[in-house]
Amino acid sequence: MSAALTALADWIDAQLSDELASRQHVAETALARIEELATCPVLTAADLGVLGQALADAVTYRDPAGFCQDCEDSPAALCQDHADDLDKTDAYLALAAGLGLEIDR
Ligand SMILES: [Zn+2]
Repeated sequence: MSAALTALADWIDAQLSDELASRQHVAETALARIEELATCPVLTAADLGVLGQALADAVTYRDPAGFCQDCEDSPAALCQDHADDLDKTDAYLALAAGLGLEIDR
């Protein structure tokens, strides 16, 4: 089950345990979320394999291999360009983890 469906199931489960929760509200909210999820693209296992490789390539490309003179001069020991690359690397790894993909670094 995708993370989004698991989150929806957990939310519904919590709502059903709450005696004060409106069943109408739970049903309407769940229906709206299901309709939203139904429009999401579905990735096959092969698609995920390609996406995992693309993310691994992106991580390799963005992961700072070293430092530059601007890094040396920066009080944080990391220049803005290399900090941006590190943020992008973190975002790629978070996306991979969210999709259940392992990225070799
Ligand atoms: Zn730098």
